[in-house]
Amino acid sequence: MSSDCLFCRIVRHEIPATIVREDDRTLAFRDIDPKAPTHVLVIPKTHVASLNEATDAAMLGELLLVARDIARAEGIESSGYRTVINTGAGAGQTVHHVHVHLLGGRNMKWPPG
Ligand code: 5GP
Ligand code: ZN
Repeated sequence: MSSDCLFCRIVRHEIPATIVREDDRTLAFRDIDPKAPTHVLVIPKTHVASLNEATDAAMLGELLLVARDIARAEGIESSGYRTVINTGAGAGQTVHHVHVHLLGGRNMKWPPG
């Protein structure tokens, strides 16, 4: 836990969020500024600043399986979805608590355009 980390504060329910799934080790909630019709963030409840600091392989796997289950629940499993982890400010990481973005519900073809 990190007292001044935004996502740790969401884990502690100190900041409101639209939670879509919660278990002992992970929390998933809707992004406040969605970039797609489905845009959910999946995080570990334990504070880990980024993928660079991650050591728990099982936890990283859980984040992806939770994202997959939410994609199913949101009905975007067959239309396609993207899972993204931004690592470091140079890659656009703005919240320094590791998170998987789950994005879908629109054309997600890559590369765009
Ligand atoms: P990053 O840019 O670090 O990969 O992703 C951080 C994400 O957190 C952004 O997509 C941003 O919109 C989202 N975000 C930032 N502050 C909040 C917040 O207070 N609540 C929620 N639900 N999402 C947030
Ligand atoms: Zn944190």
